[in-house]
Formats: sequence, C-alpha cells, structure tokens
Amino acid sequence: IPVSVNRPAWIEISKSAVAHNIKFVREFSGAKRFMAILKANAYGHGLPQMVEAAREGGADAFGVATLDEAIWLRHFGVKEPILVLGIVEAEQVKLAWKHQIIVPVANLAWLKSAQKVFPMESTNKPLLVALAVDTGMTRIGIRTENELQETFNAINRDPRFKLHSIGMHFATADTNNEAYFEQQLERWHTLTDELEISADVWRHLANSGTALWHKNPSTDAIRIGAAMYGIDSSQGALEKRDLQPVLSLKAKLVQVKQVEADVSVSYGATYTTDQPTWIGTIPLGYADGYLRKLQGGYGLLPDGRHVEIIGRIAMDQCMVALPEEIPVGTVITLIGSAGGQHVTLEDLAERLETIPYEVATTLSVRLPRYLV
Ligand code: PLP
Repeated sequence: IPVSVNRPAWIEISKSAVAHNIKFVREFSGAKRFMAILKANAYGHGLPQMVEAAREGGADAFGVATLDEAIWLRHFGVKEPILVLGIVEAEQVKLAWKHQIIVPVANLAWLKSAQKVFPMESTNKPLLVALAVDTGMTRIGIRTENELQETFNAINRDPRFKLHSIGMHFATADTNNEAYFEQQLERWHTLTDELEISADVWRHLANSGTALWHKNPSTDAIRIGAAMYGIDSSQGALEKRDLQPVLSLKAKLVQVKQVEADVSVSYGATYTTDQPTWIGTIPLGYADGYLRKLQGGYGLLPDGRHVEIIGRIAMDQCMVALPEEIPVGTVITLIGSAGGQHVTLEDLAERLETIPYEVATTLSVRLPRYLV
C-alpha cells in the first residue's frame, strides 16, 4: 500500500526535465555510459518515479547507496547493471550475488572475508565487484598501490568474482578548488596506470561536478545524481549549465479566512498581523520535510505572486499571508515554477543554510510523488 495518496499536498517529477538533463550531461561530458544515481529514494524525488524517468531518458545503469535499495530496484523489474556505492557487509554478498548486484571492494580484508562466505558452486555466475579507489575523498576505497595491485590480482585469480568496474570519487569537483581536483586525478593515475585492466571493465570517475565543470577524466562511464535532478551542485559558484529542475512541491489551500489586525498565527505566536489579513492554510509541514526554518520564506500563487509563510511551520500544516481572498483549493507552489516565478531547491537550501541535496532528501515519503 502506498504510504500516501489521498492528500492535497504532493510532489511532481518532470519526466521531460529528467530526459533533458540526462541528454545534456551525456553530450556535454562525452561519456559513453550514464549511471543514474538513485540512492536515498532517488534524492528524495521518489524511487519508482525516478527509475521510470531515468530509464526513459536513456540511463544505462543505476547506482544506489545500500543493498536494500538495489534489491528494491530488481524487484521493480530493473534489468540494467546496479552498483551499490557504499560498503556491503561481506556476510551479505550471497544476497548481492543472487540479485546480480555489483558491490564495491574497498579493501583487501573485505575481499578475504567475502571469499570465506561465498560458495564454490557459484562459479558459473560470478559475483560482480567494483574496485573503489580512494584518491583523497578519504571515505571508502583503497589508498595504496600495493593493496590495490594485490586486491586486483586476488579478484582476477578467483573465478567466483568478476571485476565489473573501477572508480573513484572527487571531493571538490563542484567548487573552485581546482588544485585538489588535480591532486586527486594525479593520485588516480599513480594508483591505476600500472593495473592491467581489461577493456570491458567500466571506469567511472565523474559525479555531476566533474562532468559539468572539468575535462572529463574518463569518457567511459559517469555516475550522475544532482545534475540529472536539475540541481546545481555548485550552488551558483561555477558557470551555469543548461539543466532543468525536476521536482515541484505543491499543495492546495485547505482553509482561507480573514482575520483582523493584531491576531497571532500558529505555535508560539511568533507572527502577529499588523492589518486585516487573508490567511491561507496549507496542509504540509516539517514532517513532510518542509522545515521550520522556512518560516518567512514564500510560496507562489498560480499567477506567480509570492505568499509569505507566516508563523511557525507545524508538523503537518503551515500558513501563508494572501494578498486577497483566494479560493480554497488553489494550488500553492512551494518548490517549482508558477506564473513565470520560480522557487528552487537551491533557494530553500540557502534559507536553510545547507545544500540542495539535503533539502530534497528530507522530503518525506508521506508526500505522494507523481510523474508528469
Ligand atoms: N558517486 C558517488 C560515489 C556518490 O557518493 C555520489 C553522491 O554523493 C555520486 C556519485 C553522485 O554525485 P552527484 O549527485 O554530485 O552527481
């Protein structure tokens, strides 16, 4: 049963924007293969909606954070390669193998543990693994030439394992820190140039920032999240690229009333009207990921006029100041475009002093998601 369907508050996911963004990033970077990153409920956009949009947009493979997310995609009918980006416990490799999910090898000790729990009879269908190389992100991956060579050899020697790909992750690709990017790239070459990697092994180095603002270090495969969702991961720091926002957050006014001057609104009475005011109630709140710090921000009427969020945002409801009596049922756009005006994930991130990724992934599963 879907968590939420009967609700006048919802998220819309634009299929055409996803297709545009995939095409743009692919052509701009010259990459052969596009791995769509769908972790964390597709960056909060909704996994079922985004996997459909990304497949239609021509994604060749998918990346997720956890084994459960990968298995979910297989149950959903995804046949394309699926890579888990985070470490899967060695004890779980049989499950990954059963669903033909690619798991990272981030150190030699992990490989040895996985070899212990992996049954011999599986040689006719090897476990697909991805070598994770740490060039300066210092999160997961192998840091030294010796360990990398040894791990590479151990994978190649063991018929129960097949090297599907090798990759790294850049820490500063969406910032002005070009020196650190170059340092990581140099480290990549030092670590991998001597490895005799066969041609069918995918190389994936680029996230959105790398694909959009750097000469692509490998034109083989790219792992793209933010840019596919139309998010500017540099938050305006780097040159604007031709991306379209994918997500809109909308809700209908469920009550509209006029109050006189000197009336307080919502918990804590933090807002008091200074004149007779039309007040609209919107049926979503911080439990939906529309966080309390967004008080004082604004939504859009269908004609683009701004309506301020007044008073504290409650768990499931919040209020706006309307310019006049507006009919109940009118759609207020909290993220997205209306009447030529826009509110973006980046705008909300700025108000919340965070990054658009966090704003999007905070949108709760209680909000229905629709592909439009
Ligand atoms: N690759 C890895 C290993 C990641 O952790 C992520 C996301 O954080 C991505 C690719 C996608 O990054 P982005 O959303 O910036 O494109």
